[in-house]
Amino acid sequence: MTPLEPLILRRIATTGPLSLAEYMAECLLHPEHGYYTTHEPFGTAGDFTTAPEISQMFGELLGLSLAQYWLDLGRPAPFTLAEIGPGRGTLMADVLRATARVPGFHAAAQVVLIEASPALRARQRATLGQHPVTWANSAADLPQAPLFLLANEFFDALPIRQFTRDAAGWRETMVTARDGRLAFALSAPAPLALLDHRLADTRPGDVVEVCPAAAPIIAEIAARIAAHGGTALVVDYGGWQSRGDTLQALQDHAYADPLADPGAADLTAHVDFQALAHAAAPCPVSALTPQGLLLERLGIAARSAALAQRLTGTALASHLSATHRLTDPSEMGTLFKALALHAPGTPPPPGFAAGQT
Ligand code: SAH
Repeated sequence: MTPLEPLILRRIATTGPLSLAEYMAECLLHPEHGYYTTHEPFGTAGDFTTAPEISQMFGELLGLSLAQYWLDLGRPAPFTLAEIGPGRGTLMADVLRATARVPGFHAAAQVVLIEASPALRARQRATLGQHPVTWANSAADLPQAPLFLLANEFFDALPIRQFTRDAAGWRETMVTARDGRLAFALSAPAPLALLDHRLADTRPGDVVEVCPAAAPIIAEIAARIAAHGGTALVVDYGGWQSRGDTLQALQDHAYADPLADPGAADLTAHVDFQALAHAAAPCPVSALTPQGLLLERLGIAARSAALAQRLTGTALASHLSATHRLTDPSEMGTLFKALALHAPGTPPPPGFAAGQT
């Protein structure tokens, strides 16, 4: 048993079963025993590897898309260059290096990292060296200014609620206790206004997930983009609509039972991009774009070839394998998707096609 499991069992004994959102929040963010509190989850030594940790090209290409868009919008100054959920700071470091030679871009940028964990803030400080950066606790603290924001594998880490369709109502997946261990159970069926819009496209037995924390965060970001201009690039795994049970635990780069070791495994769920798009109103969103296609449009083939020219042996092999991992449909190429929010009356940023209106 992990140190967190008896605490969760006691909470269930006292106040009843937990929603998945409550369970995930305990597992990820418990101040003493939570996963993000106690682990350095990223990289080969951690439990999972993200796109910026796989290759510098990911941040370089997204950074150049942001910088080109900033030029296209007439070089607004000052502006906020922000990232939410920056992990080790690798993505922002690659963005800053790639954009250093775009005239005026760094001078106009105020770099803001939205990160709650003090340990990760220190990690980001170390990665970004001397570059001037400020930290914010939440999207609500972002300056009122043009905003160019990145979110990679952030929304998948937010707690979800999960529902199974009944005849005309929904049963919620709960975490309860059985024989002294954690176990899943379904609540009694009840109608739920939150899911009225899913009655038309689901049948009894279908599972859908809702991420209550995502909409307010997107709304804060969209309000700044609508008022001052800019864009937000959201990259994550998921689809246009939530469908099926996507709660997943990762431990040592392998899938694990989400209830087996609370606090010791990373817990994530697929992102429902349609819900993000709804929460972005009045900002329009781009077409939902597979990561591989986005990186190809932004020039990964040429960038990869240029980097390959300087490499030999195992360094060359690992560079070519990283390119493949980021773009191939059998790897991250289609599972991961990107969505761009932009201001009403402006086109989406480079790499993205306009969404349906
Ligand atoms: N974007 C990084 C790391 C993704 S992991 C990468 O691509 O490598 C998720 C990140 O979101 C971590 O930095 C974690 O500390 C942060 N995070 C998770 N929940 C959060 C919350 N509720 N508020 C702010 N940051 C959060």
